[in-house]
Amino acid sequence: MDDVPPDATASPIVGIDLGTTNSLVAVMQAGRPVLLPNALGETLTPSAVSLDGDEVLVGAPARARSATHPGLTAHSFKRDMGTDARLELGRRKLRPVELSAYVLATLKRDAEQALGVAIEEAVVTVPAYFGDLQRQATRDAGAIAGLRVERIINEPTAAAMAYGLHERDRELVAVVLDLGGGTFDVTVLEIIEGVIEIQSSAGDARLGGEDFSEALAQWATAAIVTEHGAAPAKGVAEARVLQAAEGAKRRLTGQENVSLALPGLELKGGRRVDVELALDRATAGAAWEPLLERLRAPIRRALRDAKLQPTGIEEVLLVGGATRMPVVVELAAKLFGRMPRRDLPTDEVVALGAAVQAARKAGDAAVDDLVVTDVAPFTLGIGTADRMGQRIVDGIFSPILERGTVIPASRVNRYSTMHDDQRALTVEVFQGEHSLCADNVALGKYTLKRLPKGRAGDVGIDVRFSYDLNGILEVEMSVVGTDRTESMVIEKHPGRLTKRQLAEARTAMERLKFHPRDSLPNRTALARADALYAELRGPEREVLGALIGELRAVLEVQDPALIAPVRERLVAATRDLSVPSGR
Ligand code: AMP
Repeated sequence: MDDVPPDATASPIVGIDLGTTNSLVAVMQAGRPVLLPNALGETLTPSAVSLDGDEVLVGAPARARSATHPGLTAHSFKRDMGTDARLELGRRKLRPVELSAYVLATLKRDAEQALGVAIEEAVVTVPAYFGDLQRQATRDAGAIAGLRVERIINEPTAAAMAYGLHERDRELVAVVLDLGGGTFDVTVLEIIEGVIEIQSSAGDARLGGEDFSEALAQWATAAIVTEHGAAPAKGVAEARVLQAAEGAKRRLTGQENVSLALPGLELKGGRRVDVELALDRATAGAAWEPLLERLRAPIRRALRDAKLQPTGIEEVLLVGGATRMPVVVELAAKLFGRMPRRDLPTDEVVALGAAVQAARKAGDAAVDDLVVTDVAPFTLGIGTADRMGQRIVDGIFSPILERGTVIPASRVNRYSTMHDDQRALTVEVFQGEHSLCADNVALGKYTLKRLPKGRAGDVGIDVRFSYDLNGILEVEMSVVGTDRTESMVIEKHPGRLTKRQLAEARTAMERLKFHPRDSLPNRTALARADALYAELRGPEREVLGALIGELRAVLEVQDPALIAPVRERLVAATRDLSVPSGR
């Protein structure tokens, strides 16, 4: 880690959008949220991690290595947050929470560099549907990275704050449509006197901008088969088609017609051909029609759950890189009968809102009078048994805190023993909407022992659930008529790190070697050039190879005056030789 200058001013709380594809960090400055640049001077840091020897690379260089070193590179791990999935990176097996911690540590370091002070605390955003486990994992990731994450806020709430909807002096109903790389979320918000409440949320966890690129890649593959009689070869050729489709999708955002150029594309059977396809918006729109239909479904569901007609929505906010696509803007405009707001960059709004909330938490006068409430995304309760005649049926879910309850909230239910002189009772906590425990997610259990003697049903136990703004649940059990209260420590459910695992992860993090920040521009230039080198052939490959060799050579002699100009030449060559893919 870099040295941080002595703490001249108080350490600000930063806002972090820890995204599936990209992450951003922002801070409030002079009453306005501003994004902070990373080591490359960019505000978007790809949420990707790659191992290079015993060094860890995070961000753009890691993303570039996913083409050349897929076995050493991880991305999209946010999808698995809160599970105990392991991603294999070379010889190491890493949990999503650890990979997220690497991203957070990098953002922390970049923010410290940009601001010149140590950063200790962050407000981190999560999707509204994230449950307990995923929120806890997000906090844990912060702890591993050396960041206190006391406040976790929902992404749509952050977006509304970035648009200042909490500052309006009237009631307002808004919908946030968030189409990222791999997920789609719809959230209906009600804002009353500065308080933002979630009315409903729906989404599709397997639908995002990547599917739109994938659909264009399929269209291109079919066109290549028609024209050249064979499909692109597996591996590199297929990856090139997908990359070209992604570029074409982005260019269609600004243009009516684009072309996909794939010189020297290898086909199945080994033949190489020069492919050039023309694509217009209407053709792309037809290829995307099934995806557009899938976007409509969660929007309808969210409106129905909030008991609203589309005309009841006064503001439509677009969030996520893929809402830049004109077809998505048109769909939103048509469904709601009004133009959606997208005056803030769609991939920055969540981070900007997180910074607004962070400043509020730090007590910044500029955002002093703001209160935000959220709702519990899932029902929380415990397992109980019922006596049916002679039979005891157990595993029945008894909800204590219903989904949609405004949080922070605390609810208590009274339960009683089933047998005479029953001395122990196990309280098992579940999350979910099903009547049987087996269909819900088990969060943890606790056994109350040494209960007072008594007839069946005479000994009462109050179970209190306290759910805080961060979605963290505390369970208190008290024996009625005594002053005995015990509280539940949920530590061992899947994906949740135990205290020991957390301490180990933190130590491992401290020992971890991050690639030196100063040389990241060189590392990124090389990684991007390497990825392109693998694709090119002939004289173009030679030109690029020579420049890569030259940069490696000047890096050896470590002459900063030589490095910068050679690197810039390599960056320019990489740009010129790659398939054009402007945003
Ligand atoms: P996010 O996860 O919000 O960063 O969203 C990333 C998604 O947005 C990816 O699928 C990108 O392809 C897509 N995206 C980014 N820029 C554009 C653009 N100009 N036009 C269309 N899609 C874009």
